[in-house]
Amino acid sequence: AKTSGGGALHVYKPELSERVDNRFAMEAMMKMGLAEGQFHAYFQAKRDLKTGRIAGAEALCRWMHPDKGMISPADFIPVAEETGLILQIGNQMLAQACDMAVRCNGPGRPRFVVAVNVSPKQLLHGGFLCDVRRVLEDSGCRAQWLELEITESLLLADLEETVELLEALAEMGLMITIDDFGTGYSAMSYLSRFPIKCLKIDQSFVRDMAQDPEKQILVRAILAMAQGLGLKTVAEGVEDAAAAALLSELDCDYGQGYLWHRPVPAHNFYQLLAASRVA
Ligand code: C2E
Ligand code: CA
Ligand code: CA
Ligand code: CA
Repeated sequence: AKTSGGGALHVYKPELSERVDNRFAMEAMMKMGLAEGQFHAYFQAKRDLKTGRIAGAEALCRWMHPDKGMISPADFIPVAEETGLILQIGNQMLAQACDMAVRCNGPGRPRFVVAVNVSPKQLLHGGFLCDVRRVLEDSGCRAQWLELEITESLLLADLEETVELLEALAEMGLMITIDDFGTGYSAMSYLSRFPIKCLKIDQSFVRDMAQDPEKQILVRAILAMAQGLGLKTVAEGVEDAAAAALLSELDCDYGQGYLWHRPVPAHNFYQLLAASRVA
């Protein structure tokens, strides 16, 4: 190959093998991290835009590596999905989310729902329903306190199987939310086929909507459609007061974003919630 021209081969080969090495190194590191409990759920508040109260939280995975520090999900979730390790990570996230839900709910308190992100591979691996049942039972968490955030693309993957699974989860009492709404496919017929309760408008529309009329039009349209279908709505990536004001005006139910709260470790989140409930 050296003399037969095609310099491109020599340019790309080292990069590719480096990437593969990294992937295997990453996989080994992840296995160790799982065994040693290095994956932690951080929690970000979801704010009720009518009352201003914290109505729930989203669990977001953080990998605390002893040498490399905090690794963000964008850097390890794709490899976790490829290697199947997402199943173990996902179960640990479910367990930590349920523990938080148990702490935050109780007699005389308003219902508090904790959302977990579920990747397509995790949802469709065949044992998801059992995993959820077991985690609920082990933690004492009610299904009504748990929410699953799934992305739009998943709903087109394997229709029959997905409908049945989501229906079983919804019947148990879990809330199903479409994450990143607006970024995926525009075949929205699934909205009536799946037992969905809530749409989460993607942050790319929300972040600078106050300064961008086109984004505002899209957000308005999504909210009108969701409201017409009787779905709850969440806007993610709310960073400024102007966006928050617009969202309230448009009757969006919940908001999530740096304007109010960043994702924080479990104990900080619990303190934050407790303080907000006394106030
Ligand atoms: P996502 O589910 O769309 O989560 C929202 C992301 O936006 C989070 O990033 C969150 O920290 C960030 N965010 C929240 N508010 C704001 C804001 O006001 N401005 C900006 N610029 N960003 C904001 P994060 O935590 O890095 O997570 C990235 C993605 O990784 C998530 O996107 C989700 O797709 C995935 N992910 C995180 N945890 C898990 C998990 O436990 N399981 C799975 N399968 N995926 C996860
Ligand atoms: Ca999410
Ligand atoms: Ca999202
Ligand atoms: Ca996203």
